[in-house]
Amino acid sequence: MADRDGVIWYDGELVPWREAKTHVLTHTLHYGMGVFEGVRAYATDRGAAIFRLKEHTERLFMSAHIMNMPMPYTRDELNEAHRTVVRENKLPHAYLRPMVFYGSEGMGLRASNLKVHVIVAAWEWPAYMGAEALERGIKVRTSSYTRHHVNISMTRAKANGNYINSMLALQEAISGGAEEALMLDPEGYVAEGSGENVFIVRDGVIYTPDVTSCLDGITRKTVIQLAHEHGYTVKEKRITRDEVYIADEAFFTGTAAEVTPIRELDGRQIGAGHRGPITSVLQKAYFDVVNGRSAEHASWLTPVA
Ligand code: PMP
Repeated sequence: MADRDGVIWYDGELVPWREAKTHVLTHTLHYGMGVFEGVRAYATDRGAAIFRLKEHTERLFMSAHIMNMPMPYTRDELNEAHRTVVRENKLPHAYLRPMVFYGSEGMGLRASNLKVHVIVAAWEWPAYMGAEALERGIKVRTSSYTRHHVNISMTRAKANGNYINSMLALQEAISGGAEEALMLDPEGYVAEGSGENVFIVRDGVIYTPDVTSCLDGITRKTVIQLAHEHGYTVKEKRITRDEVYIADEAFFTGTAAEVTPIRELDGRQIGAGHRGPITSVLQKAYFDVVNGRSAEHASWLTPVA
């Protein structure tokens, strides 16, 4: 990742990619207190355009507020930074990674007067789990790792340290022959994937866990709205793992994963064992919107030019 051409926005400057470095005593590297986003820009008729940029920046600010990290830039400055890195790196489409982290002014949990740094990087990143996953669906395993408790690390912030839990779950799922983990909340109800929200479909109704133990996903919100517009009922409720086993369809949503069908959970086939009809409708609607092919929701796309 580090050895490539291009520029990264780093504390207000465009820094050559290979020189965008930070010290080994960077506080966030040691304790994981930092916040970030995952954002995508799509190739549209109007050139590269960033999907729901305002909402991602808003969540980044909320995450920083939860973690008590003062933001040294305004929302407008950061939105502009996102547009700049896609444009300056001449990316037709991109994954963007803004991150807010502490500097190396002090060590230890009591460290104060730490400088808050911000980067925004962008690179080309095709389908997160491969193009085939979007069509065929993926195999998932219920994780032995519990998702975050609302009073331990909380769930509203997209915080760096939260992702060791995701990585442990994903490693376990992959070593067990699956492609993604399904994580349960501390009470044993379905929460989310390692980096995705989860939905199931049963008898034509769409269900998803409420956001108590999962990230308030922007793709989740988008898909719920698109589902309503297509006349489907969406219910937010507690879901058990066996409800997923007997669902007609299941899928993950996320900026990276987009709308990825789930074809199997814990060795049990879900529905017909491939992308279901409602998943197909929503996936197509999502791709139409993000790629600027739908006249509606044009305001969700921010052109970089
Ligand atoms: N849950 C977790 C844990 C995630 O990391 C992500 C990805 N940001 C999501 C859900 C989906 O969120 P979004 O749709 O905003 O990308």
